[in-house]
Amino acid sequence: MALIDAPEQTADGKTAPTVSFVSLGCPKALVDSERILTQLRAEGYGITRSHHGADLVIVNTCGFLDSAKAESLAAIGDAMAENGKVIVTGCMGAQPEEIRGHFPGVLAVTGPQQYETVVAAVHEAAPPAHDPFVDLVPPQGLKLTPRHYAYLKISEGCNNRCSFCIIPQLRGDLVSRPAAEVMREAEKLVKAGVKELLVISQDTSAYGVDIRYAESPWRDQPLKAKFADLSGALGELGVWVRMHYVYPYPHVDEVIPLMAERKILPYLDIPFQHASPRVLKAMRRPGNQDKTLERIRRWREICPDITLRSTFIVGFPGETDEDFELLLDWLAEAQLDRVGCFQYEPVQGATANGLGLEAVPDTVKAQRHKRFMAAQQAISTRKLKAKVGKRLPVIIDEAGPSVAKGRSMADAPEIDGNVYVASRRPLRQGDIVTVKIERSDAYDLHGVAV
Ligand code: SF4
Repeated sequence: MALIDAPEQTADGKTAPTVSFVSLGCPKALVDSERILTQLRAEGYGITRSHHGADLVIVNTCGFLDSAKAESLAAIGDAMAENGKVIVTGCMGAQPEEIRGHFPGVLAVTGPQQYETVVAAVHEAAPPAHDPFVDLVPPQGLKLTPRHYAYLKISEGCNNRCSFCIIPQLRGDLVSRPAAEVMREAEKLVKAGVKELLVISQDTSAYGVDIRYAESPWRDQPLKAKFADLSGALGELGVWVRMHYVYPYPHVDEVIPLMAERKILPYLDIPFQHASPRVLKAMRRPGNQDKTLERIRRWREICPDITLRSTFIVGFPGETDEDFELLLDWLAEAQLDRVGCFQYEPVQGATANGLGLEAVPDTVKAQRHKRFMAAQQAISTRKLKAKVGKRLPVIIDEAGPSVAKGRSMADAPEIDGNVYVASRRPLRQGDIVTVKIERSDAYDLHGVAV
């Protein structure tokens, strides 16, 4: 059995139960998984990667797209077949009938963020071996990410109502964590050796709106629960701080100088989703793309090497050829560094399905996706080529005998490219080294440690 963390033996020699865990979905779901695992580990449970021989399996599901649902159902099916004692949580847990329809034998189904309910279900199925004298968990909690980077979730839920998205139905309205609580978690992570914090939420720039930007005491000073204030405080911790899921609201401009000063990474992950005003309106997305282009121009004036990453949806109902051409023109003008593109999927329960707009045929969606990706690939290749000859700081993700794999400030883990680093001296995971870039391809850079 591949144990991640072995169960404790209690004073009377009994071994605590083991739990196998499957974590699917986005970084937000990953943070939920970490919280559940941290709690279970604190109670002495062993954590294993193998369903076989575990006392039970927890599957943290993702229900955002139909393809994610299918993956979740397959994972539950595997767990039922290999183990049989299964607890389901996460986004798909908000639709228990669907899960029970497929797998009537699951032990419990809970929705997203219902940590206590998951833990209570575990207690019932495999009671913990009680040993109050042992402190099993490191103060920063258990992380599923490698030790040198960690996700920092600053809020739950979302106040927007984008018509293609069911996250607000699944996760509710925005609930922001107090700024001091976020900072305490960030500080613990840094003390435990984390070198890069990835700030996540559903809508990072809306942070604090729900609690009216309430102040809380941090290092003897009041700290506002506000995107710019929190960014400034995180920037004082001396590690890389990367911002995800930011919307181009006007107050985002306030953090660009922090990026220029390298207090936080010059990196913004902004899901624009489209550029045609008609499609954006049907999507119920905030923002006017002309003003956004203007804003991007200003950001680049203040911080010329800012990296902009985004995601787009093609084939949204009612998207015409004209809308799509407009999107390509916008993309050519915006010159974003990193881009992901999805073909629209009519997620069950999304308001977009009831707008009466004509569905785009799958073949057209696929063609548009291909054209979009080809256009972006040309931009990305050009942008990466411009980095050849530069010296860039690179964080090492994986050591290797002669070539290590890392990321520059422009690359978030999992979603962006890599920097392959040749080095005479051994590089360790989490090292930040200066790399002279020698060549590039469409997504990655290659260089040598100096
Ligand atoms: S901003 Fe829109 S897409 Fe993102 S979680 Fe909120 S409703 Fe969904």
